[in-house]
Amino acid sequence: MRSTMPDFPLTLQHFLWRSTTLYPDKEIVTRREQGIHRYHYREFGERVARLANALKGLGVGPGDRVGTFAWNNYRHLELYFAVPCTGAVLHTVNLRLFPEHLEFVINDAEDRVLFVDASVLPALERVAGKLPTVRQYVCLADGPLPDSPLKPMLSYEDLLAAQPTVYAWPALDEREAAAMCYTSGTTGKPKGVVYSHRSAFLHSFAVALTDSMGLSEADSVLPVVPMFHANSWGLAYAATMVGAKLVFPDRFIDPASLATLIRDEGVTLPAGVPTVWISLLQYLEKTGTQLPSVRIIPCGGSAIPPALMDGMARRGLTMLHAWGMTETSPVATISQVKRALRDGSEVERRVRLKQGLPVPGVELRLAAVDTGAIQPWDGKAVGEIQVRGPWVTSGYYRGVDPERFTADGWLRTGDVANVDREGYVQIVDRTKDLVKSGGEWISSVELESAIMGHPKVLEAAVIGVPHPKWQERPVAYVVPKPEHHGAITQDEILTYLQPLVAKWWLPDEVRFVDEIPKTSVGKFDKKVLREIAARQVPAAIPSE
Ligand code: AMP
Repeated sequence: MRSTMPDFPLTLQHFLWRSTTLYPDKEIVTRREQGIHRYHYREFGERVARLANALKGLGVGPGDRVGTFAWNNYRHLELYFAVPCTGAVLHTVNLRLFPEHLEFVINDAEDRVLFVDASVLPALERVAGKLPTVRQYVCLADGPLPDSPLKPMLSYEDLLAAQPTVYAWPALDEREAAAMCYTSGTTGKPKGVVYSHRSAFLHSFAVALTDSMGLSEADSVLPVVPMFHANSWGLAYAATMVGAKLVFPDRFIDPASLATLIRDEGVTLPAGVPTVWISLLQYLEKTGTQLPSVRIIPCGGSAIPPALMDGMARRGLTMLHAWGMTETSPVATISQVKRALRDGSEVERRVRLKQGLPVPGVELRLAAVDTGAIQPWDGKAVGEIQVRGPWVTSGYYRGVDPERFTADGWLRTGDVANVDREGYVQIVDRTKDLVKSGGEWISSVELESAIMGHPKVLEAAVIGVPHPKWQERPVAYVVPKPEHHGAITQDEILTYLQPLVAKWWLPDEVRFVDEIPKTSVGKFDKKVLREIAARQVPAAIPSE
């Protein structure tokens, strides 16, 4: 029997309508060079309509890709809505890509129009003349149009000023593409993941749920996670859906600027990767700054080191661990603590440190790394995480990569984890980052987290280096806190680790460095570390 319910399309147009109609006076705030830019959802809606008219004027039609090369700011949010709501596809380009990858993703997506923040023009200019599909550049700037080899170029504000503030939004099919994002490509070429209106819509609901981020119109949401990285974890859409106040940092993501923005704008929910919070915590400890408005700090992208979560807790700040990837829109698990486990004890702390429960809509299983056999959820057995769901991609823009999908259609994430009886996922490593020593696996992530618990350590990354007897052995790269530079030894680290990890897990060598190379999305770049290691002298204390 058919239901009496319509196939009402789940499109982003609904969020646009809802936020501008129900919350016209709610603020959207952006930090700028010269102070704060502030306007309301009412004006946002008018500008989105102007932009939609402008896109039409530029000849952008259904399915055309429109690229953005921009920080987190109100203009980027306007593009987030105007582009998909007209039926075109928003392609958010990562600002930190190397020129080869930059050129590759723009050409692969065949972007037709490219919107660029004035502050990052030089980065895009490195590939000027190599982007044949781009017919128009539009500069997001306050002042006059800068001189640039990227031609033809228009000013965003001039373009909008000439347009009407209403737009006849077309009827859209929810399954059509709304946005696309490229994987960060630490192995091989980046691959395009294409989100539909439906997937973005449903993902927003899942993110907002009480047992997820618990988003409400009363929140003041600060996405520090870039809008070019997996749609800033869907927060721009989810926050708009509920009518929350939105606060954008633009490029001012140093700890002092973030702390000021959080305090001044009463931010309740700042979201970002661990490295952002590691430096903020240092700043808070040094300056004694309090951030009483913050309700919860969603954090993911890489594992939250226990020392970070504990340090934040000491300052009254609660972190919320989440896991996901570009291919999963990205939120797939969130570590909200079940009521029965909320006892304020060590058990609860350990649960918070895990990556969490699959959010409603996402199904998850573990498959043994070697045999592919499905593993039990007993908190011990480890396996690759495989997921499926309405916002888990089933292929890539240029086709299915058979290695990334199982025969029965689950996404092979490349993340290795255990799942406990309660359903909490704990990531152990990336399949490619596990250290294989004497036929057994060592978790580089666990070792890093343990080392980062040392009071003199700021950051640590562990990689496996080839070893004649054991196949691979762990080597740790450690960045001391500034005040302990030159005043920390390998022995101190190893002694500290001894009670925390198995003896055979102890790194063969600890190498002190000024900084750990990071990927374009701020994660430890182990590919580069491995290259560095390959050029360095062998470990000083080889294992027996
Ligand atoms: P990306 O597609 O750039 O967002 O990267 C996704 C990858 O980041 C995942 O496959 C994981 O390896 C890693 N990742 C994301 N969140 C977490 C987390 N909470 N803990 C550990 N690793 C994470």
